[in-house]
Amino acid sequence: MDENNLWLNRKRIEQAATMLRKHGFDVITVDTKDQAREAALELISSDATVGIGGSMTIREIGILDALISRGNHVVHHWHPGISPDEDIALRRQELLCDVFLASSNAITLEGALVNIDGAGNRVGAMVFSQGKSIVIAGVNKIVKDLSAGIWRAKNEAAALNAHRNNYDSPCGVTGKCIECDAPGRICRVTTIIERRPSKTDFTVILIAEPAGF
Ligand code: SF4
Repeated sequence: MDENNLWLNRKRIEQAATMLRKHGFDVITVDTKDQAREAALELISSDATVGIGGSMTIREIGILDALISRGNHVVHHWHPGISPDEDIALRRQELLCDVFLASSNAITLEGALVNIDGAGNRVGAMVFSQGKSIVIAGVNKIVKDLSAGIWRAKNEAAALNAHRNNYDSPCGVTGKCIECDAPGRICRVTTIIERRPSKTDFTVILIAEPAGF
């Protein structure tokens, strides 16, 4: 990465990190996706069960394979061809793991995490996981404020996810949110985590390069 871009990206994530720490989160800042993976692996004991929510970032940094090859029991629902019943069972099991790993649709410079789910399993596990929540996010997720966070969650994250999955929601075709009522609407539960949830051990790892949707 160009050193000027890296400089600015570091400033952005540090600004968000300062506010997140003020709001009770543990925060680690790193330059690269590889460093993010290693930082997360250090936080997870090798005998921990790990639930993984639907997240491109988590797959992109390579931690899923690293956990499995290290011997962690990993639970996730992105298995091709599974039945709807299996899908729901896996989403429920993710909630009960020792560690829950996810990204965030947006993180504001004011120190809040903004997320929108269709089923709600990811946001539920983030705020009240069995043990530890680890959120890993690239600099592309940093936004100015809550309004920009919700805009990003719908017009970038949701649109990209709808397009990737061929859902029938308009954003997946046009690339922009029209607050649809499509049967396949994937925006059904919005959470704004303003402070560390009181019963959850919560670490945010911010990366000075883009990652995920
Ligand atoms: S409300 Fe509909 S169009 Fe807007 S982001 Fe959600 S699914 Fe897409």
